[in-house]
Amino acid sequence: MSVREKMLEILEGIDIRFKEPLHSYSYTKVGGEADYLVFPRNRFELARVVKFANQENISWMVLGNASNIIVRDGGIRGFVILCDKLNNVSVDGYTIEAEAGANLIETTRIALRHSLTGFEFACGIPGSVGGAVFMNAGAYGGEIAHILQSCKVLTKDGEIETLSAKDLNFGYRHSAIQASGAVVLSAKFALAPGSHQVIKQEMDRLTHLRELKQPLEYPSCGSVFKRPVGYFAGQLISEAGLKGYRIGGVEVSEKHAGFMINVADGTAKDYEDLIESVIEKVKEHSGITLEREVRILGESK
Ligand SMILES: Cc1cc2nc3c(=O)[nH]c(=O)nc-3n(C[C@H](O)[C@H](O)[C@H](O)COP(=O)(O)OP(=O)(O)OC[C@H]3O[C@@H](n4cnc5c(N)ncnc54)[C@H](O)[C@@H]3O)c2cc1C
Repeated sequence: MSVREKMLEILEGIDIRFKEPLHSYSYTKVGGEADYLVFPRNRFELARVVKFANQENISWMVLGNASNIIVRDGGIRGFVILCDKLNNVSVDGYTIEAEAGANLIETTRIALRHSLTGFEFACGIPGSVGGAVFMNAGAYGGEIAHILQSCKVLTKDGEIETLSAKDLNFGYRHSAIQASGAVVLSAKFALAPGSHQVIKQEMDRLTHLRELKQPLEYPSCGSVFKRPVGYFAGQLISEAGLKGYRIGGVEVSEKHAGFMINVADGTAKDYEDLIESVIEKVKEHSGITLEREVRILGESK
C-alpha cells in the first residue's frame, strides 16, 4: 500500500488536499506547495493526523492565519495543518476560551460584545489565537502574556497537556511553545469587566492608528523585524534611506519602513533577499543588527 493510500484509509473523513499551493493562504501571497494540506475540524482529527505523521515518519507543522510567515517558493514537505476550522469561542464570566484557529480579531470583538476589557490591544492583529500564543503577539503596550490564563496543547508526541501562563515562559515575541514543537489547541484568557463604550472607543482608536500608519492595503507579514532594545526597526530602516527599496516584487513600505509589501507578484526569494539586504544596510548605517520576527518556512526552489 502506498503512503497516499494508507493516508486516505487511516485519515478517512479528514479534509486533505494534495500538492496545495500555499500562496493563497499566506498574508504575503508567496510560497510553494504543501505536500499535504490538512484542515482538521476538531482536536481529535488534528491528533489523528499528528499520530499518523509520527508513525509514518512524515514531517508536519501547524499554521494559524499565516500572517507571520513566509513560505519559501519550493513549498513545505509533509503535512501542513491549518487550524482555522478549530474556531470555537466561549465566554464564562470574565474568561474567554478560544480554540487555536479562532480569529484573534473576532475574539477581541466577542470580548467587546461582553464588555470585557484587556483584549483591546489585539483588535487589529490578523492572526489566530494559536499563532498569537505561539508568538506572544502584542501591540500598543499589550501582549498575550498579560491576559493568558492557561492553554491546552498537543505535545509533539501526541499527549494533551494544560499549561499555565508561567509554563509558557513568555518574553518579547517569545513563548516556550516555539522550542517545544507542541500545538496550541485552545487558550483561556482572563479579562475584566469594563464599559462597552470605553472598550469600543479604545478599539476604534487603535484601528484608526493602524490604518494611518500601516500599509494594510498590500500583502505583508506585518513588522518583519523585532524591535531592537532602545530603537524602532522601522526608524532604523528609514534612517538608512531604505523606504521604497525594492527587490523583485517586494519593497520596503514608504508608509511604514518596518513592513515589506508584495507590490508586484513578488516571490519568497524576493522577500528573503530584501530582508538580508536590509539587515546588511542597516548594520552598515547604524551598527545595529536587526533580528527577524517573521518566520521563514519550507524549501527554496
Ligand atoms: C498587517 C499585519 C499586522 C500585524 N500586526 C501585528 C502586531 O501588531 N503585533 C504582533 O505581534 N503581530 C502582528 N502581526 C503578525 C501576526 O499577525 C502575529 O504574529 C500573529 O500572532 C500570527 O498568528 P498566525 O495565526 O497568523 O500565525 P502563523 O503565521 O500561521 O504562524 C506563525 C507561527 O506560529 C505557529 N503556530 C500557528 N498556530 C499554531 C498553533 N495552534 N500551535 C502551535 N504553533 C502555531 C506556526 O507554526 C508559525 O511558526 C501582523 C501581521 C500583519 C500581516
